[in-house]
Amino acid sequence: MSVYRCPECGFVYDEAAGVPREGFPPGTPFAEVPDDWTCPDCGVRDKLDFVDASPGGSAYHSENSPEAPSPDTPERPS
Ligand SMILES: [Zn+2]
Repeated sequence: MSVYRCPECGFVYDEAAGVPREGFPPGTPFAEVPDDWTCPDCGVRDKLDFVDASPGGSAYHSENSPEAPSPDTPERPS
């Protein structure tokens, strides 16, 4: 199961949870959501704008890989 996030408002489509109020019962794959479906929260973005926010997904990974401090530049009080 994957998770997709609206880049506009942060609304999350969780395939495991679906969006029952939108007519998508729990377990509905994002692929089965119509391409012309728009974000129910902001109404600005549609399905194709959603980003993969599932664990291991590209968006999730980029947000959770902070740059490590360089090991060869120790902070040394003078
Ligand atoms: Zn939205």
